[in-house]
Amino acid sequence: MGGMPKSRPGRRSAPRPRTRPVPHSPGAPCPCGLPAAYGDCCGRYHSGHAAAPTAEALMRSRYSAYAVHDAAYVLRTWHPETRPAELDLDHHMRWERLEILATTDGSAFHSEGTVAFRAHYGLRGEHDVMEENSRFVRHDGAWVYVAPLP
Ligand SMILES: [Zn+2]
Repeated sequence: MGGMPKSRPGRRSAPRPRTRPVPHSPGAPCPCGLPAAYGDCCGRYHSGHAAAPTAEALMRSRYSAYAVHDAAYVLRTWHPETRPAELDLDHHMRWERLEILATTDGSAFHSEGTVAFRAHYGLRGEHDVMEENSRFVRHDGAWVYVAPLP
């Protein structure tokens, strides 16, 4: 995936994560729900050692980044046209489970794709679910999140 491009003034300046990641053991189960250790799954993408090969893999790794509060990863896998200037992750949110409901395209042979998902979380004792059909595109060779589909 490589490093971030040099930051320049204006709207394309580097996004600022406002929260720090919480340590997540490489040997612990990956938050994304695949039967793999974090270090062998989404952790490789978070550390920059590999790039998510499909839109679904990117979606899973972004969910895992929310789970480990890696705001920098969430921002750098967000399309520059739609990503927020900064991102505050709520440390009280406990991301519990991700369900992938459907995908279209988004493979190594595509330049666009969609991933419909359901993310279960707890917040101050309340359980809730977030559901979204997300659009992803390839940007500079890497999958990035664009926006929810209407
Ligand atoms: Zn994972």
